[in-house]
Amino acid sequence: MFDYIMSEKQKKLRDEARDFSAWVPKEMVLAMDAEKIQFPHEYLREAGRRNLLGIRIPAEYGGRGLGWVEDGIVAEEIGVASYSLACLWGVGADIVCEAVTKFGSEELKREIVVPLLKGEVYAAEGLTEPRGGSDFFGAATVARKEGKDWVIKGQKRFIVGAEGADWFLIYAVTDPDAPPHKRMTAFMVPRTAGVESRYIYGLMGVRGGGAGRVLFNDVRVPERFALNGINGGFTVFTKMMIPERLGTAAMTIGSVRPALEIATRYTARRKAFGQEIRNFQAVGFKVADCSMLLDAARSMVYASCLAADSGTVGDGRIRRMVSGTKKFVTETSWEIANNCMQVVGGIGYTSVFPLERIVRDIRLSMIWVGTNEIMQLIIQNEWYKEFEEVLSKEPVRDVEGDAAAADEPDEKIYE
Ligand SMILES: Cc1cc2nc3c(=O)[nH]c(=O)nc-3n(C[C@H](O)[C@H](O)[C@H](O)COP(=O)(O)OP(=O)(O)OC[C@H]3O[C@@H](n4cnc5c(N)ncnc54)[C@H](O)[C@@H]3O)c2cc1C
Repeated sequence: MFDYIMSEKQKKLRDEARDFSAWVPKEMVLAMDAEKIQFPHEYLREAGRRNLLGIRIPAEYGGRGLGWVEDGIVAEEIGVASYSLACLWGVGADIVCEAVTKFGSEELKREIVVPLLKGEVYAAEGLTEPRGGSDFFGAATVARKEGKDWVIKGQKRFIVGAEGADWFLIYAVTDPDAPPHKRMTAFMVPRTAGVESRYIYGLMGVRGGGAGRVLFNDVRVPERFALNGINGGFTVFTKMMIPERLGTAAMTIGSVRPALEIATRYTARRKAFGQEIRNFQAVGFKVADCSMLLDAARSMVYASCLAADSGTVGDGRIRRMVSGTKKFVTETSWEIANNCMQVVGGIGYTSVFPLERIVRDIRLSMIWVGTNEIMQLIIQNEWYKEFEEVLSKEPVRDVEGDAAAADEPDEKIYE
């Protein structure tokens, strides 16, 4: 985040997060990328020890009780060490804990959130199924009532942290005959009889974070594990879009920042044709554009964080802004990473620099927590809804009138 707009407290928090990122052993990052580690328990325990999990979760449950701006500040720094670690950091403490604190009983908050924010347990989030992730309402995982309990059957795939999770926040169809937004329930499912995780993917990046498939083979859970009650899953899903996407945007900035640092240093030292390559506009302009794009991306994250913190911006507009932020930031970060690799030349494509890992890792950002095409859909829907209100009012200035032939009604044909 921008240091010149941070308060002293926020700078202190940023420095804590920076210290934590500096603590992350290089061996851990490399072993995760090589899949010698499948789930970095030690990372989450250390984050818990430092009280750097659950930045927005109330202090009574072990979080910091701060806002989105602070969350964005920390997420950016967390992203610097490794995107895979940042994904784990965000899913358990930011997304699942928010769902439980907003929609769970006091008992569940004590049972799940408190130990999770100490780094003692981990919770994954499962929406995506083998048959599709974008079409959330088409979920095939079902839960049927048996006595006082619910019995869950189905599968989720590509679940970050599946391998190490003690709890799973999953969505299941509980009323197949109801309209889509009334048929789903969000359940907290412990790793209990019938839950099976499989670490099976050869991922391009974001490795070592336990991403896998989770099978629910007639898993019995009490009704109290349903967040927001039975058939109340849609509201949980809609609210969780915010931490999923705003958190992703903030941490992606952090993960691409090292690429720009590496490219800047390299191009300032590397010589060709008798001079530093930064002097060639083809190189220096690329680096300049990357720094501009990083500022633009960060500005968007900051604006959305302020909107979310304000409490005065409507849900639809927040959804549009956050979806736009996720799309813009992740595509911009991809462009930055790609250009940083380009100006470093052949050596940037090797494991001598971490650029190739950064490129592989952040490619995920355009796919997960809702693809960027789905972000476009949301922006489209929300923008037109937002504009309907504007259209129904008299404009402050008749901007359409500012044209020489504006008063030619016969030329303004709409049908
Ligand atoms: C490493 C990794 C980690 C992940 N972690 C998690 C996790 O922790 N939890 C979780 O639940 N999921 C997770 N995911 C899943 C991810 O969120 C989904 O892959 C994503 O939402 C897309 O779903 P899909 O892969 O089924 O693609 P599909 O839904 O099959 O989409 C395929 C393509 O069609 C496009 N498309 C689909 N519908 C539309 C439409 N209506 N309009 C325009 N385009 C459309 C999509 O944008 C995409 O380009 C992870 C994925 C990966 C790879």
